[in-house]
Amino acid sequence: MELVTALVNLQEESSCPICLEYLKDPVTINCGHNFCRSCLNVSWKDLDDTFPCPVCRFCFPYKSFRRNPQLRNLTEIAKQLSRLKKKRRSSSWPMLPGKLGGWSPTSH
Ligand SMILES: [Zn+2]
Ligand SMILES: [Zn+2]
Repeated sequence: MELVTALVNLQEESSCPICLEYLKDPVTINCGHNFCRSCLNVSWKDLDDTFPCPVCRFCFPYKSFRRNPQLRNLTEIAKQLSRLKKKRRSSSWPMLPGKLGGWSPTSH
């Protein structure tokens, strides 16, 4: 179960809060939030004095972000994992008998 939780976390980490897709060309701004570079550009497009974070609304006095190649790799991994998961379908994930609600087939 820990692995599944880790995968969900990984997918959340690697998705963009603006378009809700996997990050494309991920960038990190100074509050620590991550976005696609294009999404961030769109959300800051009409602004010229303050640039609020689309998530936490922290305002920056200038457009400042840095590329995040590690996150880009992470996103690639998350994409591949989600493809694997889709192929298998969640219903066919290995499930051990006797672990369902405490019911055991060998009770007597
Ligand atoms: Zn995006
Ligand atoms: Zn933020």
